[in-house]
Amino acid sequence: MGGTSHRHFFACHACTQGRGVLGEWNGRGGGQQTRAWRRWSCYHPRACHVELRIGAKMKVDGQCHCGAIKYEAEVEPGNVVICNCADCQRQSGSVFRANIPAPAGSFRIVSGMPRKYLKIADSGAKRIHAFCENCGGPVYACAAETPQTYSLRIGALTQRYELGSPSRQIWMKRRFSWLTELDDVPGCEGQS
Ligand SMILES: [Zn+2]
Ligand SMILES: [Zn+2]
Repeated sequence: MGGTSHRHFFACHACTQGRGVLGEWNGRGGGQQTRAWRRWSCYHPRACHVELRIGAKMKVDGQCHCGAIKYEAEVEPGNVVICNCADCQRQSGSVFRANIPAPAGSFRIVSGMPRKYLKIADSGAKRIHAFCENCGGPVYACAAETPQTYSLRIGALTQRYELGSPSRQIWMKRRFSWLTELDDVPGCEGQS
């Protein structure tokens, strides 16, 4: 069944379960990113089909796990970035974080008041990490002074399956080597 070696797979937007495959974009970054749109369709029997417009704005909303903090923002689908840095691993307790930037002017807290942690990186860069003090859920990260963008964790957004596959990943030297092998790990649809 093959095709090229660089096909990108991701969950289908419409059914959020089926595996989709990029139809007209099979490269890895570089000039391919200038394409105006990407298209994918789902292998699911319902034949879900979605178009993702690069450069188009999308309203998103998110919340922490307990729901005390809710927020909304505007993002550009296709702008998801994977960060494999040690800080992201430590702070999330996971192997990487997937973020999408939202212009500061578009970000709005709808309810609740996040707590803020000032993170100072090895480089000296200061960033605010906002989180829910009740459940610990991440809300945003931004520059400590006059932030231009708010970095949102895509897993906390309602529209997380509609944002497209990542366009970039950083801190590759920290990346877990087995991330590329996940498709070969036995899995099941739910908990068991
Ligand atoms: Zn919470
Ligand atoms: Zn990071």
